[in-house]
Amino acid sequence: MNRMLACVLVLLCSAGMASGQASDGGNVWNTLAAPAMDPTKYAVTENVDIVRDRVRINLVTGSIQFAKPANGLVFAAVFHGDGRVLVDPPNPTEAQQLKLFTRQDKLIAAFTEATFTFSDGLLEDVEKQVKWKDGPGGDELYAKRQQEREDVGGEYLPRIFKSVISPDRKRTAYFLADLKIKDRGWIQVRDDAMQPEEIRVGKWTDVGPFKLEDYWMIFPAGGRDPRHVYDDPAERQDFLLPSYKINAYVTDGAELGATANVTVNPRYSGERVLLFELDSNLRLRSVKDDKGRDLEYHQARERKENSQSYGNYVAVVLNDPTQAGQPQVLSFVYQGKHVVYRVGNGNYFCKSFGWYPSAFASELGVDEFAFRSHFELNFRSPKKYILVATGQKVGETTDGKESVTTWKSEIPLAAAGFAFGDYKVVTDKVGDVEIRVYANNQPDDLLSSIQRGFNNPLDELAAGPGGSHATSTAAIGNLTPSALGKTINIEAGNTLRVFQGYFGPYPYKQLAITNIIGSYGQGWPGLLYLGWFTFLDSTQRNALGIRNQTQLTDFFRGHESSHQWWGHRVGWKSYHDQWLSEGFAEFSGLLYVQYRENMKESLTQWRLDKEHLNEPDLNNHKTETLGPIWMGLRIRSSVTNPGSYQNLIYSKGGFVLQMIRMQMMDSRNPDPEHIFKETMQDYCKTYDNKPASTEDFKAIVEKHMTRIMDLDGNHKMDWFFNQYVYGTERPQYTFHATVTATPDGKSNVSGTLQRTGVSENWKDVVPMYVHIGDKVVRLGAITATHDTETLTFVIPQKIDKLTINDYQDLIADVK
Ligand SMILES: [Zn+2]
Repeated sequence: MNRMLACVLVLLCSAGMASGQASDGGNVWNTLAAPAMDPTKYAVTENVDIVRDRVRINLVTGSIQFAKPANGLVFAAVFHGDGRVLVDPPNPTEAQQLKLFTRQDKLIAAFTEATFTFSDGLLEDVEKQVKWKDGPGGDELYAKRQQEREDVGGEYLPRIFKSVISPDRKRTAYFLADLKIKDRGWIQVRDDAMQPEEIRVGKWTDVGPFKLEDYWMIFPAGGRDPRHVYDDPAERQDFLLPSYKINAYVTDGAELGATANVTVNPRYSGERVLLFELDSNLRLRSVKDDKGRDLEYHQARERKENSQSYGNYVAVVLNDPTQAGQPQVLSFVYQGKHVVYRVGNGNYFCKSFGWYPSAFASELGVDEFAFRSHFELNFRSPKKYILVATGQKVGETTDGKESVTTWKSEIPLAAAGFAFGDYKVVTDKVGDVEIRVYANNQPDDLLSSIQRGFNNPLDELAAGPGGSHATSTAAIGNLTPSALGKTINIEAGNTLRVFQGYFGPYPYKQLAITNIIGSYGQGWPGLLYLGWFTFLDSTQRNALGIRNQTQLTDFFRGHESSHQWWGHRVGWKSYHDQWLSEGFAEFSGLLYVQYRENMKESLTQWRLDKEHLNEPDLNNHKTETLGPIWMGLRIRSSVTNPGSYQNLIYSKGGFVLQMIRMQMMDSRNPDPEHIFKETMQDYCKTYDNKPASTEDFKAIVEKHMTRIMDLDGNHKMDWFFNQYVYGTERPQYTFHATVTATPDGKSNVSGTLQRTGVSENWKDVVPMYVHIGDKVVRLGAITATHDTETLTFVIPQKIDKLTINDYQDLIADVK
């Protein structure tokens, strides 16, 4: 996978850009940020049409002026006057989203000002419809809007830079219309040929102190099927990143610095601009190519602490254009604070994202976890602490006050991370998997402040949650995670045992677990970060008044450790498929509760998850009507509650898997779950260390589905996925059944199952259960294809009652 480029690149040097002549990129960059308007490209507009796929922009009356070119390309224009934008949603899903944000069925809006950013021939489109006149110089609208877009974190500048420098303006074509809509402010309509879903309509909105982009519509151009445009996530990627060799250091002052040698495998020839992401708190010192030459780069502005991000992009300008399939190594040197945080004596929090350069992915689209890279990580860290990273530790030495460790991935990974601190390490084994718990010897700042509160009731913090905990000072003990290292080790081992039984082998040779501040959790391949709550014992949790213990302990640990399967063993292709990670992890957390505690406890949790879906969202919307779980992160917007994304993608997503599990239950087999386990293990094997999409998962379910699940008689699960994954409806069921004992010892059953709240052609498989004394036995299922289903049948033995939904078989509300 290494480089083989010397001769090729020498040849290419003669193609025009002499090495060292890198400053042309800098001029282009500056021109793109603040273009000068061209007085010879000014026109009065009358009914000028700009059409991009289903977007129609009409410049009714007013004036348009184009900018002077950058790198030979005219890329910008401004409009003042009376304009209209019209976008007709391509499908009911996008129509539903548009309506949520605008209350319109079609987007129809008038605008008074506009800027256009493009590399797709807009000048030629407009030229045919206008006559040039002499125009004014000095229109500042474009530069002003560019600055405003950058201030909210819109990463448009690197994207147009990419196109303007690219030799392939068709593959990299870009169009952005920034339109000032009457009463609503600026909205953005874009058509990006490098995105599988080219068309996007969105608006930056205030959410608290920050700006967030609302997505009114995102869809593929040309009427392509949005469920399949991400089938090959690499299809429109500019390059892949097969391997990293990172030499990094961390200090006890929480600074991180690194030289990241990144192997870039270009998919196209002739490209000179490559776009990356790196946390903008890390400031680049240099970017070099593999001849050691300094390359020009443009990095997003540094963010002030706790303030709006200006983006995390890095645009690198190569001296020599790329050769498709010829990897080269770029070397990034950077350092900074606020990527590692000191959160107590010997306690550090290391941000898991953004500490090394990854492919530019500023927009919802292909997910970063769709790709895998080899990682070799070399860390220098304070000798008094222990550092743990993803991969296998293959080297360890000391150098003065520093320890130097080397970590190598055994298989390509979706991400790499690390943690360090004053740890106590406890090691154990589950089969061949080594489990190591790295628990801090001293409490972090949050634990310390709580401890102080308990030790001194007069301290303001003693009046903390509930205010009455001061009496339990004796019970709290010492809040150090290390006291629980052994327990956590055993518990983590238990999660692996349950999940290996259901989903197949754990993908790595080791699992390291560290505690981090707060109630946050994150799973990296072979490395789990778990909030400190999970490290407290039950007495301490009681003393702190933490009531919902399962949520913070067994469930939480199960959820996080299952990400080793959901996210790492099997990745996901695009934002549409994130429920395959979070929903499946939610399911796994509750599955673990069932085994670790009991069925009753897990059913209680399932019921609570369902109740969350019934909580009204902002504007009195029912949560499930905010959008299908397939919308993924688009659910998080200015018109929804912060928790609604989680309720849908996590809880409803988990319920989808639970429903499949209950449909597949085979009560005649010694292992009634064997079909479900075979399905999940086949899914993990088929997509082992690869990404999957919703449609990929559906195909696996169809391979294993039982006869009773085949409600359309075509061996497809469309009915189920259309309703629960791609749809926004959720039924309510009322079930009544009477059982009459016959003189010859049988039972006559008659009953009705009634459904409301969903459209006409709704279908469900509704498992039934008979109760005989305190025994509950599954008795087939009702195929509920009508709003009312009538049941009459005879059971050849005496039963007490017939019920449905005993095991939270349905996400429906059941009465
Ligand atoms: Zn999760």
